[in-house]
Amino acid sequence: MTLKIYNSLTRKKEEFIPNKPGEALIYVCGPTVYALSHIGHARSAVAFDVIYKYLKYRGFRVTYARNYTDVDDKIINRANEEGVSSDELALRYIKAFDEDMAALGVELPTHRPKATETIEKIIEVTKSLIGRGFAYAAGGDVFFSVRKFGEYGKLSGKNIDELEAGSRVDVNEAKNDPLDFALWKASKPGEPQWASPWGQGRPGWHIECSAMCMQWLGDTIDIHGGGKDLMFPHHENEIAQSEAATGRHPYVKYWMHNGFVNIEKEKMSKSLGNILNIRDALKENSAEAVRLFLLSSHYRSPIDYTTESLRENEAAVERFYKTIQRIGDEWPEVKGIDYCVQCNEDGFKPMIDAMDDDFNTAEVIGILFREITKANRIMDAAKSSGKKDGLIELSHALAFFQEASKFLGIFAKRPEDYFAEKRAHAGIPAEEVEKLIIERNAARKAKDFKKADEIRKELLEKGIILEDMPKGTVWTVKG
Ligand SMILES: [Zn+2]
Repeated sequence: MTLKIYNSLTRKKEEFIPNKPGEALIYVCGPTVYALSHIGHARSAVAFDVIYKYLKYRGFRVTYARNYTDVDDKIINRANEEGVSSDELALRYIKAFDEDMAALGVELPTHRPKATETIEKIIEVTKSLIGRGFAYAAGGDVFFSVRKFGEYGKLSGKNIDELEAGSRVDVNEAKNDPLDFALWKASKPGEPQWASPWGQGRPGWHIECSAMCMQWLGDTIDIHGGGKDLMFPHHENEIAQSEAATGRHPYVKYWMHNGFVNIEKEKMSKSLGNILNIRDALKENSAEAVRLFLLSSHYRSPIDYTTESLRENEAAVERFYKTIQRIGDEWPEVKGIDYCVQCNEDGFKPMIDAMDDDFNTAEVIGILFREITKANRIMDAAKSSGKKDGLIELSHALAFFQEASKFLGIFAKRPEDYFAEKRAHAGIPAEEVEKLIIERNAARKAKDFKKADEIRKELLEKGIILEDMPKGTVWTVKG
């Protein structure tokens, strides 16, 4: 069994062979903290959260860094509009991002560097680029000479001459060549600034990631990730800066890019006004349904966020927990079985194979729901025949779910906790529901079916679904 990763650099799936055996160094571009994070950020964060978890699950010692870009034009502009300092604005949105990640069940990376805490390294890398002839100072600015880096364009497949033809010259910039990009910018009064050999200034965006990656992980790393939109120019520039500054390559062995999220079949954009913030998505849906939705497609494919698809995922999550609850209620003996003995590695093979094939979570979720269907079929058959066949299958299913939840980051709750959370989320006082259920059962006992039915309907109007199970009446909240 070998783990294969689709490498954006070579455009093919390759066996994952880290620089140091057994170790994996990953860097993922984090948010520019000037606004609330949207569902596109959630997709990247959840995709790499699963990759992080799975590499650990497969026994790698993983060091994972995800940064905060906390000095940037967008932050400065927004801070000026609001009349607050850049620091204050950035800290507000770092806090908001951390809250969103916690709500989505995204594990904290090993390192969470901030660009503003990496200035020394940024200056060091910039100095090294000037010293090696790849960059030049002009006024208070420093630019990277794109044409000096012979392999420029190798990640995005872009051709330098075509880029040159398409670029425009900004008269305010002191560049030698329109292709060149800023490593360091002289600060205007009131902007965040640091002392440098080129005067008071601040870093450009691209150099921040190169420097943070070097400082926290090293000059060469195994995996670098981010959204597809970052491939050019951001990641292309990172390669040029890092490889030119250190002379070591490849800077990154495997480049990984996650696909976009569309909203109701439209591209998410400011101009369409359809940007969906993570916290708004979580007002409408449970975090588990959002994660399931994000992981039900391969991380590289585009996905379409629709009210309908989220509702389906919410129902799927409920179906999962209902099945677990049902196994516990109807087949309590399953819990007594030692999973590790019954479920040998072969039982998990299809799941491991799918994950080893470029982290195919969609396939794993497909297998998982086929197991759910099978488990219910076994329990239905036992109910009608009165004979319990399938103890091993059910114990395997439970073990399988437990195993998959370790890296999917979903389906790890106890069903009773899931249903309790769901009720709390719906904001319905549980005592009131319980009281009505007792009344209804009394009415049924007294053969007052009209009254019993009225109570059932009354609860249904409030979004409560009753189910009469062998052990009594259970209730769930409509998804
Ligand atoms: Zn970056």
